[in-house]
Amino acid sequence: MTLYDVAIIGAGPAGIMAAIRAGQLKKKVILAERNDIIGKKILLTGKGRCNITNSAKLDTFIEKFGKSGQFMRTALSAFSNEDLMDFFKSRGLELKTERQGRVFPVTDKASSVTHVLEECLKDNKVEIKYKARLRDIKKKGEGFVLDIDGSAAVTAKKVILAVGGASYKDTGSTGEGFQIAKRLGHTIMPLSGGLVPLKTKEEWAKDLQGMTLKNVRVTFIAGKKKIISEIGELLLTHFGVSGPLILDLSGAVISLLGEHKEVGLLIDLKPGIKCEEMENKLLREFKEHGGKEIKNILAGMLPFRLAPIIIKLIGVNGQKRASQIGKEERRSLAAFLKALPLTVTGALPLEEAMVTSGGVSKSEINPRTMESKIMPGLYFAGEMIEGHASSGGYNLQQAFSTGYLAGESAANA
Ligand SMILES: Cc1cc2nc3c(=O)[nH]c(=O)nc-3n(C[C@H](O)[C@H](O)[C@H](O)COP(=O)(O)OP(=O)(O)OC[C@H]3O[C@@H](n4cnc5c(N)ncnc54)[C@H](O)[C@@H]3O)c2cc1C
Repeated sequence: MTLYDVAIIGAGPAGIMAAIRAGQLKKKVILAERNDIIGKKILLTGKGRCNITNSAKLDTFIEKFGKSGQFMRTALSAFSNEDLMDFFKSRGLELKTERQGRVFPVTDKASSVTHVLEECLKDNKVEIKYKARLRDIKKKGEGFVLDIDGSAAVTAKKVILAVGGASYKDTGSTGEGFQIAKRLGHTIMPLSGGLVPLKTKEEWAKDLQGMTLKNVRVTFIAGKKKIISEIGELLLTHFGVSGPLILDLSGAVISLLGEHKEVGLLIDLKPGIKCEEMENKLLREFKEHGGKEIKNILAGMLPFRLAPIIIKLIGVNGQKRASQIGKEERRSLAAFLKALPLTVTGALPLEEAMVTSGGVSKSEINPRTMESKIMPGLYFAGEMIEGHASSGGYNLQQAFSTGYLAGESAANA
């Protein structure tokens, strides 16, 4: 029976990078993946374009991970965003930086990311076992015995668990890794959806599914509590709202939903100007184009399908000429453009979250090596570790960085 130096479970970004690093350090490495391809979740990231990392400074990364930020410091320094970008560029994949520092491959295809990773695994002689679902891990002497479906038991000196979180189960991350970690003595911090789309009550939002509202600001209100976003992008869906602005605030909104049955959501469609200026702008438009129908004026100011909805909501006849719009109607229109109201009634389940909140307790993992403090020789990497960041490429960077550090530590131990 072959004794591997390092066995890595899960071929997501964390496990792949761990395998590459251990392979670069000339170790005998096996990477076991339950799917028949690597990086199935990577293919879905960034709407298929893969927002691979962010160009932000290390301090911003640490801030984005909130309470887990300091824990991530060593990993994010050992293999930083610059290192990750160099990794891909030096292998022929050009990258580009979009708004808010989001980094994507110039191909706009996540498959070009998995292609580079696949080649690099080959170059570093990593043995990949597909359709190899890990059932259990047992400590044996100084090493481990892995019970893997469809194969004889695998023995390894070190094991890296990188089996992901518990969302988008079709990609392979079913959450069963948490049970395995628990059986090995680890504490699993309560699991819930992190970065989750929200459900809304109003039918009109659903009618606009697929529409992206760019450069808007959202405000959530419940009782006296208010949460205000930065300016960004919101997506209307068949169940309610999603997109970076919503996902990033979803954790705080879910807390509000714990105390309130419903949470108000106001969308500021023109965050660059105050309500009074909005009224004046409308006044000018209506004077200048007095003979035009109001629906046509609004169609020029708003995304195409949104104008008729706003007209319906304020109860104005869309065929009314601009010159016939009274002060009250103009005020009401300005108010809607500055605070288009929706009602949030809940969040989608963990399965449909972008990342899992909770996971293997960080207090039981050595942040300098990613080694378990409970079971020496066992390492963790990626989303299965407690703590996630907002959207923007930070979570994939976390997976690559913790994977790199775990791979290096396991190889050098
Ligand atoms: C729709 C969507 C879009 C996203 N977009 C972005 C984005 O643009 N930028 C960003 O930074 N983050 C994004 N994320 C988050 C990002 O995908 C995750 O943070 C990242 O994939 C976590 O990497 P991982 O390696 O820890 O886990 P995963 O990518 O989940 O990989 C875990 C692997 O382990 C395998 N596995 C699980 N259990 C077993 C087992 N028992 N035996 C063997 N193998 C097993 C799985 O099949 C899987 O291949 C997105 C997430 C989703 C769902």
